[in-house]
Parts: sequence; C-alpha cells; structure tokens
Amino acid sequence: MICPSCGSANDNGVFFCRQCRTLFLSNIDQDGAPEEGERVLDLAHACELVRSGEWSLTEFHGYLEDFEAKQAAKEGEIHATIKEIPFGLEEEFQEESQVGLEGVTSCNEAIGVLRRYDPEITGDFPLEEGLGIFFSGISRVKEAMRINRRSYGRPLWL
Ligand SMILES: [Zn+2]
Repeated sequence: MICPSCGSANDNGVFFCRQCRTLFLSNIDQDGAPEEGERVLDLAHACELVRSGEWSLTEFHGYLEDFEAKQAAKEGEIHATIKEIPFGLEEEFQEESQVGLEGVTSCNEAIGVLRRYDPEITGDFPLEEGLGIFFSGISRVKEAMRINRRSYGRPLWL
C-alpha cells in the first residue's frame, strides 16, 4: 500500500509505514476485539458438547487441534506485528506487547489442560480448569488492547 503521508510503497497489511512510521489505521481495524469473544464462546460450546457426550473424545481432540492451529496463526501475527514496531517506538508499545503475549501464553496452556479431559479418568476438572485459564488469557489480551486504546486511541493488534 502507498503511504498517505510520504507516498512510499509498503507491503500490504503492514501496520506502519517503513519510511515515515505513519500508522495505517485501516490495517489495524481489521482485527477487532469481538473475534476474541467469539472464540471464548466457541471453546466453551465445544467443552459442553464433549461433556454431554454429544462429541466423542476423538472429535473433541480434533476440534482442539484446529483451535490450536488458529491460535498459533494469531500468535504468529502478534509476533510479526511486534517486530514491525519501528525503531524508537518499542518502549511505548512494550507494556501492551508484554501483557498481550502473557495472555496468548495462557490461552495455549489452556488447550493443553483441556486435552487432558477424559470422562472416565479425570472427570470434568480439566474442562473447568482449561476454560478458566483460557478466560484469564483472553482477559489479558483484552487488557493489552485497553492499554493500547488508553495510550494511543486505537488498538495496535488483535
Ligand atoms: Zn510514509
């Protein structure tokens, strides 16, 4: 995309102009918070399906695998975005980057806990525990977005 400030050419989807550091709001707005809320509901629903017996453990594990792949893609985007923060602005974005990455780590941990669920052996505990960890991870991610809005009036990522 062409930077509206300096006219230099940038790769599509980047958040900052490589040349003059102008922020490309249109690229940032594509990633909104509602998506996070939907993922929480989706995961909770999957836990209900396996707990009620509507899904087998194999189906549940398949779902978790897909879910984890989407998580990994999202995490990759976050790392790429952090790498894109222009030289000299790292410190400004440090707090939200750190909080957000902590959130992502919790979300990954949660999937590992959910995978341990086995009605015969573990009871419901891993489902409760895993969802709890996932919720707290997502709230860290949302906290990162709040820090970002408070400081700059727009989200940098997620
Ligand atoms: Zn520019």
